[in-house]
Amino acid sequence: MKYYSTNRQVPLSTLRDAVLKGLADDNGLYMPERIPQLGRDFFASLRTKTLQEIALEVASALFGDDVAAPALRDMVYGALSFDIPTVRVADNRYSLELFHGPTMAFKDVGARFLARMMQHFTRNEKAETNVLVATSGDTGSAVANGFLGMEGITVTVLYPKGLVSKIQEAQFTTLGQNVCALEVEGAFDDCQRLVKQAFLDKGLTAQRRLTSANSINLARFIPQAFYYFWGWAQMPKDSEVVACVPSGNFGNLTAGLLARRMGLPIKHFIAANNANDVFWEYLQTAKFSPRPSIATIANAMDVGNPSNFARIMDLYNGDYAGVTADISGYRYGDAQIRSIVKRTFDETAYTLDPHGACACEALREYLEENKAVNGFFLETAHPAKFKETVDDILGADIAIPEKLQAFMSGRKQAVGMSNRYEDFRDFLLK
Ligand SMILES: *Cc1c(COP(=O)(O)O)cnc(C)c1O
Repeated sequence: MKYYSTNRQVPLSTLRDAVLKGLADDNGLYMPERIPQLGRDFFASLRTKTLQEIALEVASALFGDDVAAPALRDMVYGALSFDIPTVRVADNRYSLELFHGPTMAFKDVGARFLARMMQHFTRNEKAETNVLVATSGDTGSAVANGFLGMEGITVTVLYPKGLVSKIQEAQFTTLGQNVCALEVEGAFDDCQRLVKQAFLDKGLTAQRRLTSANSINLARFIPQAFYYFWGWAQMPKDSEVVACVPSGNFGNLTAGLLARRMGLPIKHFIAANNANDVFWEYLQTAKFSPRPSIATIANAMDVGNPSNFARIMDLYNGDYAGVTADISGYRYGDAQIRSIVKRTFDETAYTLDPHGACACEALREYLEENKAVNGFFLETAHPAKFKETVDDILGADIAIPEKLQAFMSGRKQAVGMSNRYEDFRDFLLK
């Protein structure tokens, strides 16, 4: 299988090069040149299979030409080392709990798969690979933990000093080994600028192999398709099924669209936004107007220019009518998110995190108009990851799972860093 860039200004790429590059040289995002179809037999037997078995079949259809079967099996089973339960929240509304991985957010799935695939493609090489990741919280923890202990690969996490939660910070500053956390004097945008500048610095990249692990990387994007097949198989038999996704950069939702193109009979998708509503606006007006993000309590969705919009346009050839036939949008401000968390808890005893809350409510609104349908929403983080917010909304003291507590008891080992590129460059070269 070859991969093309959504900007189509560069030749087709191998899987290996696409994964190690992340972004294509023309700044496009990589897509598979052909979308494999899974047959009737596969769907007929889906309900009898485990998450890992399903994921391996989907992975084989996509990556089977490029990765030998035993290695691919190790990648899938190694990445999906935890369950993804579906919990019925109310009536025909189900939560697909993607937060049972090591850092308790859905990004574990993509980050763990990417780490394994990157290691697979670099394992016989002498040069060390350095993964650079700028984070406002969840990405850094998922990537750092995904790559932890991988030989020949180091991870450098840049995060804005004082602007990530204590739990999030502990998840990437206490690991040690091949993970280095840089506490940057500045905002998330400074961290991102430093990383971007490093990739463009020819003098630096001649001496160090740098790569990124953000959600544009196809080996982070594609494995997110696996759990849509699994989620669909957990829904009541013979019913129509819709899926609802709390969205920021839209990697997660786009992976669902890919699953559907592979034959998965999900009838419709629902994109839930917070106040960063450029995609919602696109659905209403056919105009896509990226703008700076605004801070909300669902901060992993604070994206003003969703990078995977390019993949959605590519899948639909820019056909607005096609996009709106398949995807509906909803958006919620902070006050609404707060009342959704509260009301859902009061009515169903289910504790949502602020991201899942947007999706849970969007699904409820959609199902009100579409009654005979069942739907699942992606619950992308454990509520304890946003403990201060959730406690405040519920007037409660929600328990911190052991997995998160273990991070909190580790020793912080971050390196202070100015926001000047020269300092960052010196650090990478030393
Ligand atoms: C990253 C993230 C999202 C947004 O996912 P995208 O793939 O960027 O749309 C939603 N919820 C949580 C908790 C996240 O960490």
